[in-house]
Amino acid sequence: MLLYMYDLSINLTEGFANMFFKKNLYTKIPFLFCSFKGLLGVLLISLIALPLYAAQNLQEVNLYSARKEALIKPIIDDFSEQTGIKVNLITGKADALLQRIKSEGKNTHADVFITTDAVRLYRAKSAGVLQTINSDALNNAIPDNLRDPEGYWYGLSMRARPIFYVKDSVDPNDLSTYEALADSQFKGRICIRSSNNIYNQSLLASMLAADGNDKAQQWTNDFVKNFARKPKVGDRDQIKGAASGQCDIAIANTYYYGKMLTGKKADQKKAAEAVAIFWPNQGDRGTHVNVSGAGVTKYAKNTANAQKLIEFLATKKAQRWYADVNFEYPVRKDVAASELLKNWGEFKADTINLNQLGANNAQAVKIMDRAGWK
Ligand code: FE
Repeated sequence: MLLYMYDLSINLTEGFANMFFKKNLYTKIPFLFCSFKGLLGVLLISLIALPLYAAQNLQEVNLYSARKEALIKPIIDDFSEQTGIKVNLITGKADALLQRIKSEGKNTHADVFITTDAVRLYRAKSAGVLQTINSDALNNAIPDNLRDPEGYWYGLSMRARPIFYVKDSVDPNDLSTYEALADSQFKGRICIRSSNNIYNQSLLASMLAADGNDKAQQWTNDFVKNFARKPKVGDRDQIKGAASGQCDIAIANTYYYGKMLTGKKADQKKAAEAVAIFWPNQGDRGTHVNVSGAGVTKYAKNTANAQKLIEFLATKKAQRWYADVNFEYPVRKDVAASELLKNWGEFKADTINLNQLGANNAQAVKIMDRAGWK
C-alpha cells in the first residue's frame, strides 16, 4: 500500500510538473493517464481508510427507550460528555419497541433497551432479544430482587403501587394489606384501572407468588365486587375518582401521585392533596414494587458501550437524577429518596425477584378474566 501511494505521488508530481512547465500536448497525455490513475487511487484509499478511521474514532451506542425523551435525554447527554460516547436515542411505546427489536433480528440497530415494568423486561429476555451482562458494578449497585438472576436485565429505578385513601373518609387503622381489600367492608369503595393494565397484572402476579393460586383467585373474585365503578383510564384518574367522592380507596403507582402533587394542573393537585398513602403488607412481605430497567440486546453492535451506558445509569449521581425526574425511588440502597418521597414515609418493599412477575403474568391474567375484572 505504501509503495503504491509513493508511486501515485510520483505520478501526480510528474503530472503537475508536465502540466505547468511543458506546454506540448504530447507530455500532457501521460499526465492525464497518471492523474486519472492517481485520482482513482486516492478515491480507493479514501473508500477503504476513511470508514476504518471513522470506526476507530466514533464511539457510539444506540438506545431504544420506552421512557420519554425528557426522562432520559439529560442523563445520556451527561454520559456522552463524560465518556465521549455518542448516544443515538430512539423513543417509543414499550411494546412497539420490543416488537421492533424482535423483527429487526440480527440487523437491529438497538444496543440497549430501556423499558418500564419488569414483565416487559422478562418478555424481552424470554423473546431471546437480550444478552447477559457480566458487570460487578451493576451486581454490586443493584439489589438481587430488582435484577434478572442471570444478568439479562437490571432495574434502574423503582416505583411502588400502594393504597391511596381519602383522608376525610377512611381511617387508616382499617387498612392493612392488599388481601384485606377484598373484605366486604370495602364494598363499592375501591377505584382501580382495568385488568389489561400491566401494573395490575404485576400486582396480582406478586400476590400469586405470596398466596398461591386458589387464594389469589378467591381474592380477585371478592376484590372485583368491591369496585366503586367500572375500571377505566389511568392511575391518576383513580386518585381523582377517590378525591371526587366516587370511591374512598384507589390503587396507583407512586410517581403519578408525585406528578399530581407537583404538576401545573390545579384539579390534579387538589385531588392528590385529598388522599394519603397507606403502605400495605408491612407486617408480612411488604408493599408491591416494580422497576424501570435496561438490558443489552442480543445482536448489539456496540456491546461494551451498551454496558457502559447501563453502568452509568446505576452510578450514584445518575440514580439521584434518574429517580427524581420521574418521582421514583433509586434502586441503589446508598442513594436516598428525594425529599418529596421521604415525606410519604419509609416502607418495607416486597423483595420477590421481579422475574417472578413475568413468570406469573399469564396466570394472573387468567385469574382476572375468570373474576370478571374488566
Ligand atoms: Fe406509568
